[in-house]
Amino acid sequence: AGVTVETDVAVIGAGPVGLFAVFECGMLRMRCVVVDALDAIGGQCSALYPEKPIFDIPAHPQIEGAALIERLETQAAPFNPLYLLGRRVERLRGLDGTWELGTSAGDQIRARAVILAAGAGAFGPNRPPLDGLAGYEASGAVRYLVARREDFRGKRVVIAGGGDSAVDWALSLKEIAARVTVVHRRPKFRAAPESAARLDEAAARGEVEMAIPYQLHGLAGDGTRLSGVVLSTLKGETKTVEADHLLPFYGLSMELGPIADWGLGLERTHIAVTPATCETNLSGIHAIGDIATYPGKLKLILQGFSEAAMAAHAIHPRVFPGEALHFEYSTTKGVPAA
Ligand code: FAD
Repeated sequence: AGVTVETDVAVIGAGPVGLFAVFECGMLRMRCVVVDALDAIGGQCSALYPEKPIFDIPAHPQIEGAALIERLETQAAPFNPLYLLGRRVERLRGLDGTWELGTSAGDQIRARAVILAAGAGAFGPNRPPLDGLAGYEASGAVRYLVARREDFRGKRVVIAGGGDSAVDWALSLKEIAARVTVVHRRPKFRAAPESAARLDEAAARGEVEMAIPYQLHGLAGDGTRLSGVVLSTLKGETKTVEADHLLPFYGLSMELGPIADWGLGLERTHIAVTPATCETNLSGIHAIGDIATYPGKLKLILQGFSEAAMAAHAIHPRVFPGEALHFEYSTTKGVPAA
């Protein structure tokens, strides 16, 4: 499983800053592979505020998160980056002057240099702290997204959470599942009002069972196959709901994860870099955007863009040793046709 590729620069993180790094590297004739844990590019802009206007991107008095990402993708497109999405970079090791990265999908990426544009870390689901969770995750009994709705036909499904995902999937899966139980701590849902109202109506008709106010307490089963989900109230009263699947929808969180173990100089949850090059304590590994820190750092997209330019210029001699780098404006150089 996975792909084996060689490239000039491996970019970890397809947020706004990682995407602009592809452009800056491309202008210096360096090819990029971009890896992101999410299934879509755009980092925080896409995952957290696609429809919110941003007001401090130069020359855009106002631009929504998703629109900014679309333009950055278009700007990087002439340089044909390879996007490897839906996988996390787990391993990084140095091999005679190059770096090798391993992902959760089994990819092997060999690169002359690495640009870490990993924000606050990889996005992943918020997981409930339940004993034995890993075994049920591995078997697919506990899942954080619905990739194939048909998987739940005729199954007893427990959905936990109070946001749009919980409500929308309860409404969708009730059509095909044997039973759907929604577990939430309070009667009020943080979902689109029409959807929440439809869920109340479905519950009144007995199409969905509501376990309110309950929270997840434990998993019953043989360690891989689930037989029930144990719920508890805040007072500690418990009950078990028979179930084949548990779908916790508790939102996304970011965690530095494996990056913390790569021997990089950390300042709490950030990576310390030399400002002029954005190089970390490891030669050939540069950090830019939200994850990078130095005196005077501002965690702003526009500052990340300038760090992308500095990192690309600093990396050039590693990719083209002995070749002089003449500074040129984009107006002089132009870009290849996309
Ligand atoms: P991110 O956008 O965080 O992207 C990092 C990516 O790296 C993620 O997609 C993550 O999944 C991936 N990743 C991390 N580790 C791994 C790994 N090991 N393997 C694979 N992938 C990995 N900034 C402004 O300048 N102006 C604003 O008005 C503004 N408004 C904001 C409003 C909100 C609500 C929020 C939440 C943020 C706002 N920001 C704003 C901040 C801005 O979004 C961030 O500064 C910006 O997204 C940082 O970009 P980045 O590319 O460094 O990282």
